[in-house]
Parts: sequence; structure tokens; C-alpha cells
Amino acid sequence: MNDAVLSTRCVIAGGGPAGMMAGFLLARAGIDVIVLEKHEDFLRDFRGDTVHPSTLNLMRELGLLDEFLALPHQKVFQLEGWVGDERAILGDFSSLPPPCNYIALMPQWDFLNFLARKAGALPHFKLMMQTEAKDLVLQGDSVVGLSARSPDGPLTIRADLVIAADGRHSVLPDQVGLRTIDLGAPMDVLWFRVPRREGDDEETIGRFVNGRILIRIFRGDYWQCAYVIPKGAFDDVRGRGIEAFRNSAAELMALPRARLDALESFDAVKLLSVSVDRLERWRRPGFLAIGDAAHAMSPVGGVGINLAVQDAVATANMLAKPLLARNLTESHLAAVERRRLFPVRVIQRGQVAVQNLVIARALAARQPLKPPLMFRIVSRSPFLRGLLARLVGLGVRPEHIQTAAFLPQAEENGASRPVSRVL
Ligand SMILES: Cc1cc2nc3c(=O)[nH]c(=O)nc-3n(C[C@H](O)[C@H](O)[C@H](O)COP(=O)(O)OP(=O)(O)OC[C@H]3O[C@@H](n4cnc5c(N)ncnc54)[C@H](O)[C@@H]3O)c2cc1C
Repeated sequence: MNDAVLSTRCVIAGGGPAGMMAGFLLARAGIDVIVLEKHEDFLRDFRGDTVHPSTLNLMRELGLLDEFLALPHQKVFQLEGWVGDERAILGDFSSLPPPCNYIALMPQWDFLNFLARKAGALPHFKLMMQTEAKDLVLQGDSVVGLSARSPDGPLTIRADLVIAADGRHSVLPDQVGLRTIDLGAPMDVLWFRVPRREGDDEETIGRFVNGRILIRIFRGDYWQCAYVIPKGAFDDVRGRGIEAFRNSAAELMALPRARLDALESFDAVKLLSVSVDRLERWRRPGFLAIGDAAHAMSPVGGVGINLAVQDAVATANMLAKPLLARNLTESHLAAVERRRLFPVRVIQRGQVAVQNLVIARALAARQPLKPPLMFRIVSRSPFLRGLLARLVGLGVRPEHIQTAAFLPQAEENGASRPVSRVL
């Protein structure tokens, strides 16, 4: 049996924050888009839920903020650090311009379902779940589509542009010889939940003691916890047993030990193998990688989702016109890469500095930790607390929505016909 063949303007591999936002914005601008997501739904493992002011601002520009915030979420206005016995506010988001002056904590699947609902209402958008992108289709040096596996069998999708937004394990860039630069990470992270009870405070806080680090994130009726361990040390942690892990976590969280009984076994603990890397180049003719597929981020600052969304916005802003006019060239793709490479470089450089100067030292320390000078300076300066919040919350050179919403008469001016055709 021959593969089914579809034809569209843009096919996106991966329905994460980058792929769904890019698909939504391009379809909103009148471009035929197919997004492929290999899973059957968005309701999967915890993958972070920090929606930063940069993303909230974009929702506002799209006129979707109120509807978006009607979904259950918690607001975090300040980030606290706790080194040894000293506790201090290190980032103050409330100093950013209102109303998007906080981090909204919302499960990633709610965020993705919201985008899927909004995009699904557009005539130019098509989401294919349980459909896995496999191989790029090449014609000479150019990418002209991809092959995929769907529940109905193999499929080829031809497109003017293939976007890899399929996360940090994407195999597509390698198929066109795009190499990865590994910036290294000294740690991994163990994620788990602990119930929150009446009388607990609401602070999202990172606690550093000698040899151990725990970040606890306020999530209403539970704490989302990130226990930072040296790279590759999960087997050692497991070897010491769940009881030792519960004791250590309870101590770091300053919670009664019994609260950690909720953690029945290591099955409830999810390992995030941290990597920080980026592609040397993000594009080839007809091909662009964005989000984690182009640059895996460290969890420092919780910026991964938000940078992926920023990439998507820049992609739509810069490629909508050439895609509509069907005159897309590699130089358009290079312009997206240039625009996004700078913020990614700055943030990754900051993350690597924090990883090496703060996290690796805290994990290696055998003596009681003293707060570094910088901790004390930031904690006493409202200006620096605001600056840190700006860097983490808004990022570097934040994107704004520049694509217009598609109007039916745009078709006469070159917009593609709704929905892809089966050939
Ligand atoms: C445990 C954990 C905790 C995290 N915590 C945070 C946090 O607190 N804050 C934060 O900002 N970031 C966090 N991150 C990082 C964040 O999840 C990513 O940076 C962000 O989701 C990147 O978005 P993306 O769209 O580029 O890729 P992804 O979110 O990885 O999305 C890629 C999508 O592509 C799909 N896919 C993969 N391969 C294929 C294929 N071949 N064909 C079709 N579909 C495919 C995947 O199923 C997935 O849905 C965390 C990540 C993990 C794993």
C-alpha cells in the first residue's frame, strides 16, 4: 500500500509549547499548517508549569488573557532563596509592569489544550494526534516535507517549510547534518509532589544547604518539588532508599516528616536528566528547528516553556509573509535563527554560570553553606530584585505578536486555501 500524501504550506513536528504556538499563529495569519503530535493527548508527565510574564503578555496581545487566566492557576510574585540559615527574596515580579507581573503556575497540558482549542477553531489549522514524524523528505539540499506514522498508517506530508518543534530528543536536525553544541550540566533534578496543608506558607523557595538543594513551588493544595542531585547520581539516591530520601526532603522543605509519607516509592519521583545545548545552526533550506529541538534549557529560572513560545512568535512574525507569498528562502530562516540565538545565548550563559558557581558548589560542599556575597547584595536591593525578575520573567529582547489575524478576503491576496489536501 502506498503512503497517503498530504500537501500543506507548513508542517510542524511536535505539539509542545513551541509547535502549538507556532501552528496557532501561522494558521491565524491564514497559512495552512499541520501540527503532528506523537501522543494521543497532552495529559502526560509533569513537564513544568511556569507561565512567565513574557507568555502572559503575548496572551494579552492576542486578546486571550482573561480567558486563559480563567483556567486554574496560582500566581507567584516573588522568588525566595534560602542559603544555610539565611532567607531572602531574590526576584520580585511584582515590580514588572502590571497586569502580567507574576508567574502563573498552570499545568502544561492545560496550556496546550487551550492553544489546541483556539487553533482548532481556525480553518487553516490541522492537528494530527498520535502521529509521529519520522524522516525528512529531501530534494537535493532542500527539505520538502516529512514522513510520519499515523494510526491510519504511513504518511508523507509535503510542505514549503518543515518546523522541528519536537523537543530536545528531536532526531530531525541530525538528518540534515545539524550538529549540537553541548554546554554541560553538573546536575539532574528529581521532581515530585507533596501535599500542602492548612498553616503552610505559600512561598516558592529554593533551599541550599551543604550537599543538597531543594526547590519547592506553591501549587495550591500541593507543593511541586525539585530535588537537585549531582549528574548521574539517581542510582545512588535510590540505593539509599525512599526513607532516607523522605527524611532529607522533609528537612529541606521544613515540613513535618509525616507529610512525606505521600511519597510511597521512587515511582512517584520523576528524573529530569538536565542538559543545556543548542544546535550550531537551526536551519536548512525548507527546514527550521525551534524550542527545545534547537536549544535544550537548564531548569534554572524555569524558562524552557517561555523561550519555546518566544521562538514560535518570532517564527510566525518573520515567516508568515514569505509563506503566504510562497517565496520563502533560507535567508528568511536564517533571520529567525539570528533573532532568537542572541536571547538563547544570554540565558544559557546565565544558566551555566548559576549551575557552575552556585549549584555545583552547593552540591559539592561538605561544610555548612554561607550565602555568597551576591545573595546578600541582591536580597538588599529592590532594584536588583526587579532586574532579576525582568531577566527571568521577560527574558532578553521579548517578542510581540506582529502577525495579523487572518480575514477571509486575505485569500485573494495569496493566503492558502483552508486545510491541507489529500493528493
Ligand atoms: C520534568 C520536567 C520539568 C520541567 N520544568 C519546567 C519548568 O518548570 N518551567 C519551564 O519553563 N520548563 C520546564 N521544563 C522544560 C520544558 O518542558 C521545555 O523547555 C518546553 O516544554 C519546550 O517546549 P517545546 O515545545 O520546544 O518542546 P516539548 O515541550 O518537549 O514538546 C515537544 C512535543 O513534541 C512531541 N514529539 C516528540 N517527538 C515527536 C515526533 N517525532 N513526532 C511528533 N511529535 C513528537 C512530544 O510528545 C512533545 O509533545 C521541564 C521539563 C521537564 C522534562
